[in-house]
Amino acid sequence: MANSPDPTVIFIAGEGRSGSTVLDRCIGTVEGAASFNEMHEIVHQYQRNKKRCSCGVYPQDCAFWREVLADPELAAALPELVDGFERYDGSRHTVKLLLGAYGKADRERLTRYGALTARLYRRIAEVAGVSVIVDSSKNPSRALILKRYAGLDVWCLHLVRNPVSVAESWRNGKGAMDDNLPTYTQGQTYKRWMLKNLACESLRLTMPYKRVRFEQFTAAPQAGLTEIKQWTPVLRGRSDGFASESEVDFGPFHSLQGNPDRFENGRVTIRASRARPLADSGLSWAQRNLATRYGYGA
Ligand SMILES: [Zn+2]
Repeated sequence: MANSPDPTVIFIAGEGRSGSTVLDRCIGTVEGAASFNEMHEIVHQYQRNKKRCSCGVYPQDCAFWREVLADPELAAALPELVDGFERYDGSRHTVKLLLGAYGKADRERLTRYGALTARLYRRIAEVAGVSVIVDSSKNPSRALILKRYAGLDVWCLHLVRNPVSVAESWRNGKGAMDDNLPTYTQGQTYKRWMLKNLACESLRLTMPYKRVRFEQFTAAPQAGLTEIKQWTPVLRGRSDGFASESEVDFGPFHSLQGNPDRFENGRVTIRASRARPLADSGLSWAQRNLATRYGYGA
């Protein structure tokens, strides 16, 4: 275990409700890769044991997570991993992490948190039998922790979706199995959408970065995945789960946190998501400019 190689991490960054579960799972079908959705929550959710793993059982009953945490050093470090997650992992930490603006005690804690996180990812890759992990934690803070403090090879896919659809999705509470997501007003979502996307763009200063438009990806997902495979050397030339341009086989997987779609398994047809017009959307001047820059129009 100590000699296991570090996995490559494909990190999906973006605002919530941008379609990251679909993108995450499509990449997870590539030979040698596995997806786990929002990995920043793994230890927290394992310890709480209140929400089911996507395989259908509670985390502490899931054979996969039990095997991952059979590593004694990791098992002993669970409280430290939760503490690191609560202290440093979240949107409000992004700028500080980017600048490395921490005192000695925080730097030491972050170094230890990073080392334990790297060990956790190595162990997950080892148990899953893969060399590439897809993490759609979405928060740029997580990508920075993985890159700077865990020392992993992180490739950032910045997923954007038009703000009108994102706001509509956040307005409607969505729940399935044990996942009940909060709701936000249109104005709240537009503000989050802009700030989160700008923070995601800052990741290009620190790691390989590629922007993916959700609407473009869902219009031709097989082609979209092929492009991503071409971009990432570790995925290039590998087979994937697509049976046709929009039909893909999602095998069983083990996700402890994410969109309720994480409970969907087997062959799935991905439906194209249309971009919504920006006219009369209530976007501010700057929000609208950003949406236009991402290719969304009137
Ligand atoms: Zn499971």
